[in-house]
Amino acid sequence: MTTLEHRRARLDNERALVMKRIDQLHADAESADETREGSPFGKREEEATEAFELEKRIMLDANLKAALAEIDHAIARFKEGTYGKCESCGQDIEEERLEARPQATLCMRCKTQQPKSTGRA
Ligand SMILES: [Zn+2]
Repeated sequence: MTTLEHRRARLDNERALVMKRIDQLHADAESADETREGSPFGKREEEATEAFELEKRIMLDANLKAALAEIDHAIARFKEGTYGKCESCGQDIEEERLEARPQATLCMRCKTQQPKSTGRA
């Protein structure tokens, strides 16, 4: 297996993992809904906990979807034949960086120049 094939396999793995977590999250959400419907209680504390759980789920869902988009983007770049090139400066992305994060689309130098607030790639 070449390094590139190895990275591609890791991306596919990573993607399957994220998909599984999204499925799991949605399955949890459904069972939480069922519990709520079956319960005759409408206590304030329960509602607060539910609201908090819901908020957590929404955040996690958004994180997972962002991760999925990043992986899909990297896979699309494989198809284009531009995988491993920095999207900003066009240089090769460092091997160690791709090893640690196969979905990276920026080299270390461009990444550190990115505004910190984005937190992406
Ligand atoms: Zn760069």
